[in-house]
Amino acid sequence: KKYFDYCASAPVHPRVHEVFMKTTQEVFANPSSIHKMGEEASSLAEEARKGIADLLNVDSKEIVFTSGATESNNLVLFGVTKAAKKKEKGIHIITTPIEHSSIYSCCRFLENENIEVSYVPVDTKGVVDITCLMKLIKRETILISIMHVNNETGVIQPVEQISANIKKLRKDIYFHVDGVQGFGKVPLKLDNIDMYTLSGHKIGAPKGIGILMIKQHVQVDPIIYGGGQENGLRSGTLNLPCVMAMAEAIKIAKQNIEERISELNEMYVALFSAFSSIPSIVINSPMPAQAPAHIFNFSIPGIPSALTLKLLENYDIIASSQSACSSKGEKLSRVLMAITGNQEIASSSVRISIHEDMDKSNLEYLISTVLSIKDAFTSKR
Ligand code: PLP
Repeated sequence: KKYFDYCASAPVHPRVHEVFMKTTQEVFANPSSIHKMGEEASSLAEEARKGIADLLNVDSKEIVFTSGATESNNLVLFGVTKAAKKKEKGIHIITTPIEHSSIYSCCRFLENENIEVSYVPVDTKGVVDITCLMKLIKRETILISIMHVNNETGVIQPVEQISANIKKLRKDIYFHVDGVQGFGKVPLKLDNIDMYTLSGHKIGAPKGIGILMIKQHVQVDPIIYGGGQENGLRSGTLNLPCVMAMAEAIKIAKQNIEERISELNEMYVALFSAFSSIPSIVINSPMPAQAPAHIFNFSIPGIPSALTLKLLENYDIIASSQSACSSKGEKLSRVLMAITGNQEIASSSVRISIHEDMDKSNLEYLISTVLSIKDAFTSKR
């Protein structure tokens, strides 16, 4: 099988796997237990937390371990609105129409609960219109959530510039960034960012671990109650093997970022130039100089996404269309509809996501296979 779906899930890095296995086998006590073995487990977790905090340049107290980015994003939206509701003031949230479903669905739910949510438009490249965003801010605005790198097209949002603009206007508005697809690919400073989401299984850690970086001034209520772990913000026995694995994965992701970017870039340029010379294929991803280089999205108008994916799979090529979390059952990409407004493009998109360690010779095979699928269909018309 030729796997091109690394941003749905990436393999566990061998060094991370080692840490995970060692912790599973050797440190099985509950980190919340007050006996010696529990304390040992807890101090390992705290060491991991400190390592992550240092690499993100934040305080250890600002790292909350969750079950994944979906939970982190739910905690942001529901936790912040829950805390704000107690103040009995108006609540207004701003986000974009191209967020991952773990943000988008929460916003839809909150709207049903009579909370006002504004969706700032994006331009034809998928970039947020900052002027429009600033105009949407009003007295009741408490939270703005904008992703760093889009999981379908790879478009990068200027989140540092956005956060600087927001904070210049109003320091009390919380700014959240879903950093899942940008981490380790596009450098980002968290100085003006109040909350930041990460997912383990996209960066070489196992599934079932995520992080919410949440600055100490943010008023947030928990959404999961129980034993009061994670400073009361996220009850539940800490998943120590995954926590240790996450710390290792973050260390690796930070270590060789430049090398990784240049390897990905080389592959991205090859994909981009090959696909841009194929007539009747529309590229939905940014130009190489503006791309994070691991996500490449194209449409073959007239061929539904599901069909192209099935045909690719017949040639052992594994790709996807929308994010894995929303691809089942949905024919149209909400993200591409918001960016292009074009139903044909949004219903025929294919997402290729690549990894620095993959077999690069597979790219040629992918390109020629897509070309032959497209030719087979266009010659029939
Ligand atoms: N946010 C983005 C941008 C994603 O791409 C994903 C996963 O595809 C998530 C959130 C959800 O991550 P998790 O699988 O850790 O819940």
